[in-house]
Amino acid sequence: MKIAVAGTGYVGLVTGVCLAENGHSVSCVDVDENKVNIMKSGKSPIYEPGLTELMRKNLDSLNFTTNYKSAYKDADVIFIGVGTPEKRDGSANLSHVYSVAIQIAESIEKDCVVVVKSTVPIGTNDKVEEILRANLVHNVNVYVASNPEFLAQGSAIKDTLYSSRIVIGAEEEFAAETLKKVYKNFNAPILVTKRKSAEMIKYASNDFLALKISFINEIANLCEIIGADIDEVALGMGYDNRIGNKFLNSGIGYGGSCFPKDTKALHWLANFHDYELKTIKATIDINENQKIKLIKKSRKYFDSLNGLTVAVLGLSFKPGTDDLREAPSLVNIPIMLEDGAKVKVWDPVAFENFRKFYPNQVTYCDSIEETLLNTDICFIFTEWEEVRNFKISDYSKLMKNPIILDGRNCYKLHEIEKNNLIYDSIGRETINNLKYTMV
Ligand code: NAD
Repeated sequence: MKIAVAGTGYVGLVTGVCLAENGHSVSCVDVDENKVNIMKSGKSPIYEPGLTELMRKNLDSLNFTTNYKSAYKDADVIFIGVGTPEKRDGSANLSHVYSVAIQIAESIEKDCVVVVKSTVPIGTNDKVEEILRANLVHNVNVYVASNPEFLAQGSAIKDTLYSSRIVIGAEEEFAAETLKKVYKNFNAPILVTKRKSAEMIKYASNDFLALKISFINEIANLCEIIGADIDEVALGMGYDNRIGNKFLNSGIGYGGSCFPKDTKALHWLANFHDYELKTIKATIDINENQKIKLIKKSRKYFDSLNGLTVAVLGLSFKPGTDDLREAPSLVNIPIMLEDGAKVKVWDPVAFENFRKFYPNQVTYCDSIEETLLNTDICFIFTEWEEVRNFKISDYSKLMKNPIILDGRNCYKLHEIEKNNLIYDSIGRETINNLKYTMV
C-alpha cells in the first residue's frame, strides 16, 4: 500500500521504517528540513537501537520529504505521528495534529484513511475528522481511525514489529479493514474498538504504568524509613502473576516524553469534566518528589554542593535512548550548578542533546573513570549497562570522596559490603563504610 507518515520522531520514523519492512511504500514527512536531510543521507536523526540498519535495508521503499502535498495526495493511508506536548496547564497541545489534518485535507486527491497514531485526548479523532471534512479541497472520501502507539524508546523496533497488541479504533468498517490490511504481515493480536475507547486505551495503559512506578517508589520510600528492602519486597510481589514483575523497579521516578505528559493530560481531561482522577493525581505528585530524592539525600552529607566536584552518570531519561525529555538530569543538574558545584557528566548517547541546554557549564567526559576521577560525590541517574557493569571497587579508587547516590539501584547491596565507600540508593539500607558522620 502507499502510505504517508506525518512526523519522523521516535514514533513516526519507527512506524514508517517498520511499515516499509513489511512491504509498504512509505513517504516520511517532516517540517524539520534538517531531520529530512539527515534521513535522506541514510542516517537516523534519533538514537534508537537497530533503526538506522532497518532504515538502510528498506531505503528503496522509503522516501523522506518536507513536501507534504506530494506525499499525501495519492496515499491510501496517512498516519499522523507528530508530537502532542504538554501545555502549561497540563492539557495536551494538539496544534501539530490539527495542522497536519489541514495539510492532509488540502492535499488528498483520492479516498484515504487518516490514522491518528499520536497520543491524543479522548474525542480528538472526532475533531480531526471534522477538520478534515471542513477543509477538503477535492471531492474525496476521508475516514479517520485511531491507532495508538505502545512502543517504548530503546526497544521501539522490536515493540513495533512484534507488538503486544494493535489497537484500531474505528467507526467505519472500511477504516478498520484498511488498517487490518496495513498490518496483515505483523505478528500481533488486533483489537478493533470504538475510536474513543482506542484513545482511552492508550492513556489508561500509560497512566497505569506510571501509577505502578509511583506506587513502588512510595513503598520504597517507606522501606527506607522502616528498614525493609525494596528489592526483596518487589521480588516477593512480582511472583504473583496478578501483579507481575515488570515496572517494579524503584528509583528517582519516571521521565521521558510520555508518562509525565500523559498522566497530566488525562488528569486535566477528567478535571475538565468535573471528575478528579485521584490515583493519577497521586502518581504525578509522588513522581515530582521522587525526581529530587538524590539531591535531598546529598544534604545528609553536605549542606550544599558549593565548591564540590560532582560526578553524574547518565543523562537520558532511561537507557537505550538519547531522549532528555523530562529526564532527572535536567531537573537535578541545574540545582547542582546553582549550588556552586563543578559538574562532570557521562552518558553513552545523550551528550549532543544535553549540549543544547548546557554547552559549557558542565564537563563532558568520555568514560566513567574520567567522570569519577577526583570527585566528591556521584549521582547515578540512568541505569546504563556500562554503569551496572562498572566495578563498584573502582569508585573508591577514583573518587576523592566515594559517596555514591544511586537513583536506579544499579548495584546489589551485598556487592558493596567490603568496599570503602558510602552507597545510598532507593528503598534500601544505606551502606556507610567510610564511618562518615552524617549531618
Ligand atoms: P517527536 O517530538 O520525537 O517527533 C514529532 C515530529 O513531528 C518532529 O520531528 C516534528 O518536527 C514533526 N512535525 C511537527 N509538525 C509536523 C507537521 N505538520 N508535519 C510533519 N511533521 C511534523 O515525537 P514522538 O516522541 O515521536 O511522539 C509522537 C507522538 O507519539 C506523541 O503524541 C507521543 O505522545 C506519542 N508516543 C510517543 C512514544 C515515545 O516513546 N516517544 C510512544 C508512544 C506514543
